[in-house]
Amino acid sequence: MSETDPPLAPGLYLVATPIGNLEDITMRALRVLRSADRIACEDTRQTRKLLDRYGISTPVISSHEHNEGERSRQLLADLRQGARIAVVTDAGTPGISDPGMVFARAAIEAGVPVYPIPGASAALSALIASGLDTEQFFFSGFLPPKAGARRTALEDLAGSLTKPVTLIFYEAPHRILETLADLASVWGEECCVVLARELTKIHEEFLRGTVAEIRGDLASRETIRGEMVLLVAAQPRGEGSVSAKGSVVQRLKELETTEGLSEKDALKRIARQRGLAKSELWRELQRERARGR
Ligand code: SAM
Repeated sequence: MSETDPPLAPGLYLVATPIGNLEDITMRALRVLRSADRIACEDTRQTRKLLDRYGISTPVISSHEHNEGERSRQLLADLRQGARIAVVTDAGTPGISDPGMVFARAAIEAGVPVYPIPGASAALSALIASGLDTEQFFFSGFLPPKAGARRTALEDLAGSLTKPVTLIFYEAPHRILETLADLASVWGEECCVVLARELTKIHEEFLRGTVAEIRGDLASRETIRGEMVLLVAAQPRGEGSVSAKGSVVQRLKELETTEGLSEKDALKRIARQRGLAKSELWRELQRERARGR
């Protein structure tokens, strides 16, 4: 704590840290990190880089998704005694696809004040520069890594939309091509997407275009790397949408093979996702079978 810093009130401080550029941190965040009794962080080496850059020597303890529950019990005991604990993650805002929520809930239940110290977040940074609609957006974090579950998650999202909305996902470079292929089958090749890569870093890049264009661009690269946020200008499922027209036979087969669903359960799921009565879907299935699709 510096001589000029006012004392910090006891409580839990959820402090946002940079997502690449170390200048992206607020003066308040630095003051909190300097004045806290302890900083709970995911990877102490990563956080040390930030603290060293700003000459902060507050003790750090490691707290990651595997010990968040256990750690929060220990920290809670200290917080009840009047400690000032800061929580940071490796990058960005705690609790956003990162540890933080468990701490916040535990502190609230114990009657300990919880203070948000806002700052960088990859989702909002990507959104504001994407050029997509910022009025209505839905942050969906990481999609499931397994193909069947990912496709189901996207189908469920598509089925739940009642108006156009910008969807925001975090994605890993080794899965991006598969995810774009899934987006194409749910919303069509012409659906507009933005891929925001390496935000705030030297190689920051925005790819804007249709799913087909972005897939083509990435597929032509020798390697696909870097941290990325994927944004989708998602339309509600309409009569004319690709997913509404998609083959029931094909989707049925997918759910039976990738998720092991019985025909009955798979049809129930498809009907719900497409907003159709089961009898209506059954008739469509019979028509498709008769046509040999
Ligand atoms: N809590 C963080 C936040 O507020 O943005 C997110 C943490 S999450 C574990 C990490 C994911 O966020 C990465 O896999 C990537 O999808 C996204 N991300 C983080 N930093 C990024 C950056 N500089 N550029 C693009 N995406 C980033």
